[in-house]
Amino acid sequence: MKIIRHTDPTWQETAAALNRRAEASDAVQEVVSGVIKQVRTSGDAALIELTQKFDGATLTPETLAISQDELAGAWNTASADLQQALIASHRNVFSFAQKSLRQDWSGTNDQGAQVGEVYHPFERVGCYVPGGSAPLVSTAIMTVTLAAAAGVPEIVVCTPCGKDGTVNPGLLAALKLAGATEVYKIGGAQAIAAMAYGTETIRPVAKIFGPGNSFVVEAKRQAFGVVSIDLLPGPSEVLILADKSGNPAFIAADILAQAEHGKDSQAGFITDDAALLDAVVAEVDRQCATLSRQAQLTPVLEKGVFLLLAPSLEEGARLVNAYAPEHLTLITEREGDILPLIRTAGAIFLGNDSPVAVGDFLAGPSHTLPTGGAGKSFPGLTVDMFQRRTSIIRLDKASVTASVPIVRAFAAVEGLDAHGESVAIRAR
Ligand code: NAD
Repeated sequence: MKIIRHTDPTWQETAAALNRRAEASDAVQEVVSGVIKQVRTSGDAALIELTQKFDGATLTPETLAISQDELAGAWNTASADLQQALIASHRNVFSFAQKSLRQDWSGTNDQGAQVGEVYHPFERVGCYVPGGSAPLVSTAIMTVTLAAAAGVPEIVVCTPCGKDGTVNPGLLAALKLAGATEVYKIGGAQAIAAMAYGTETIRPVAKIFGPGNSFVVEAKRQAFGVVSIDLLPGPSEVLILADKSGNPAFIAADILAQAEHGKDSQAGFITDDAALLDAVVAEVDRQCATLSRQAQLTPVLEKGVFLLLAPSLEEGARLVNAYAPEHLTLITEREGDILPLIRTAGAIFLGNDSPVAVGDFLAGPSHTLPTGGAGKSFPGLTVDMFQRRTSIIRLDKASVTASVPIVRAFAAVEGLDAHGESVAIRAR
């Protein structure tokens, strides 16, 4: 673990170097553009070849899709414990999404014209559910449920299969509950290309959602324009900002939970209390020895975890904003002062008793959040991203008459007489 203290004269440069940009390397960009080109030219044949190459699975055009019967079978054979957990999570996520749906509205402008907005769900969307290193059952709930809550009729899901060509049954059960209407066992950049451009089997979608590894995220970026996208959610990360009221055992547990995601994940801890910093280091060492995923934990603890002693919590908040973490845990007796200072976190967990893992699986807001500093430009996934907005404008004689002088003034300066006349003719 990297430890940085403000008593070190170069601490600010060291802290600034922690900030990162969500940018793919040239090598990843090149691989992804090659994959997209191959899918555009060869369709299903490319999907089959790339799945063999990257996932080691042998598929045929007939086995690309997972049928609704298979999804129903997966739900029916899921254990009662898993069914109950999925239902509990789905209820929270669906209910949160319903509250956050945009509503149509209508009013009048200063000239008396009726103006407003109407929202419709997209007709056909694609959700990517990662499955490379772990079947992200929770991501199925955290994306597809929002599409269903928005009323999207066609919800396509792509997720990678294992070497044996199958997808984890727990993930299929979650997709059934959440409301996926088409599921394909394709992963990586090839899945994004298939949903953006279409193949013989997969019809293109209007918008692509969901997290993934660097290949998936870069493919979404390259497909943008052909389709729209939600955000660029990549490898997971957490930052914890705490004063002396922080519980070192809880903070260490959250750092380790983050670290077990594997090699690309990052965890940071910032405090203004030197004794708490030392206590957290000791707790991480103590708890780590008791955990099973040592192979995932060790490299992240060596390279992806930092602890920083800041001169004040306000300075800590400034560092948080510069880092723009996917998840921020804020534990302070001065929440009223510090919380309003935080502007770039994807999601904020407040107090000692709010573990990020509950946000990952259960709380209600989608766990699909911006990473790699992208929180400065993107919010996390919300249900209204599945709604397409259109504006509505209606004038009558009185409002069109009131608009004439203003439109004429614009038309004159832009040299567009016909624009002015098209309004004046209605007022005469
Ligand atoms: P993934 O499904 O995103 O990627 C697996 C696919 O990548 C494979 O199917 C393969 O086709 C492709 N691939 C692998 N190696 C390749 C290579 N060398 N060249 C080209 N393609 C290759 O699964 P993953 O790898 O486990 O990554 C999931 C990521 O999603 C994790 O980093 C996790 O932290 C992140 N995540 C983020 C959020 C969020 O909201 N930000 C939420 C959940 C998960």
